[in-house]
Amino acid sequence: MALLELRNVRQQFGGIVALDDVTMDVPEGQIVGLIGPNGAGKTTAFNVITRLYDPNEGDVVFDGKSLLKVAPQNVIRRGIARTFQNNELFPTMTVLDNVLVGAHSTSRFKREGQVRREALEILELVEIGRYANAYAVGLPFGTRKRVELARALVARPRLLLLDEPAGGLNHEEVENLGAFIQRLRDELKLTVLLVEHHMNLVMRISDHVHVLNFGRMLASGPPSQVQRDPKVIEAYLGGEIDETESAAEAAQHAAELAQAQQEGEA
Ligand code: ATP
Repeated sequence: MALLELRNVRQQFGGIVALDDVTMDVPEGQIVGLIGPNGAGKTTAFNVITRLYDPNEGDVVFDGKSLLKVAPQNVIRRGIARTFQNNELFPTMTVLDNVLVGAHSTSRFKREGQVRREALEILELVEIGRYANAYAVGLPFGTRKRVELARALVARPRLLLLDEPAGGLNHEEVENLGAFIQRLRDELKLTVLLVEHHMNLVMRISDHVHVLNFGRMLASGPPSQVQRDPKVIEAYLGGEIDETESAAEAAQHAAELAQAQQEGEA
């Protein structure tokens, strides 16, 4: 059974239909990619799952139960944590204190010492233990992203929503990120839903990929199948002609898709 299911979800903003009859599932223990051109509805899907938005229609089911009655601040206690596209840390707090903010919602009945120990363990796990007492403000971008990840993980989620974890990272960091996400999944027994524009990364580590386009499900399947789906290639190339995406970005997506396909065939 899927850990998370979106069933016929519709999310409208005035005249804009950001999600239109979207049905998708995320099986337990898998890394599931959620891709699509700019404005396809990926972030909206995250916001619906985390209850920031109330969908106009449909249901979001987590572990067999609807989430629609759960208040946004309680989603984390159900076992769902997320990171954001824009690194959102408290700059004048230490790394450890930033992570403890994430523990606050789920650890009310634990002793403070225990919570701190767990936070330090998570910092070690995401390989930034040595920065525990550093202020967030001066840290390199890649390290700040790890802090944000640690803050999500310290709540001990079952489902981790990653919103563009490779965004802003350099080539080498992106290379390492894939194995890192897989290791987290294995060691923490996580299920991961991954929104990411780096097509190679998504295709390399996902067990399954869902593709959104203009708020609708365009394709869904294993990476090897999705990356050679003409509809998917067309959606990325189509972005060149009309949408907000720049020609360079669309071309980059198409090139990444083609390369991922080649690697898949090799
Ligand atoms: P990107 O890859 O650029 O992050 P995305 O796939 O995450 O894009 P969304 O941010 O979910 O796309 O946006 C889907 C559509 O919904 C877009 O047309 C966007 O302008 C619109 N939208 C999203 N959030 C809101 C909102 N709060 N109010 C109005 N329109 C919104």
